[in-house]
Amino acid sequence: MSCPPCPHCQSEFVYQDQSLFICPECAHEWNPSEAEAEETVTVKDAHGTLLAEGDKVTMIKDLKVKGSSLVLKVGTKAVIKRLLDSKNHQLDCKVDGVGDMMVTAHFVKKACRSQ
Ligand SMILES: [Zn+2]
Repeated sequence: MSCPPCPHCQSEFVYQDQSLFICPECAHEWNPSEAEAEETVTVKDAHGTLLAEGDKVTMIKDLKVKGSSLVLKVGTKAVIKRLLDSKNHQLDCKVDGVGDMMVTAHFVKKACRSQ
């Protein structure tokens, strides 16, 4: 099998050592299966519905924003900008009236299309 070019320096002399790809030119090492896992992050809302970037969601409980007196009320709407492979805050959202914020996926539900 052929190795992909180095993501750092684009070298074509990458070789494989067990599960790692290694670039001899800049010494970058990476695991191709980890890179793939990052692209296929699956994040589900409170009801187990798969969420995707661009989806509209609403809060299903009041969420205190850490480090401030701000509270995201139940029903607050947000748009998912990015899904993250994180244990705590999987959603990088733009929250209505608040702005960009990291939100925990199981505190939201996907909004209906009509909303
Ligand atoms: Zn390289």
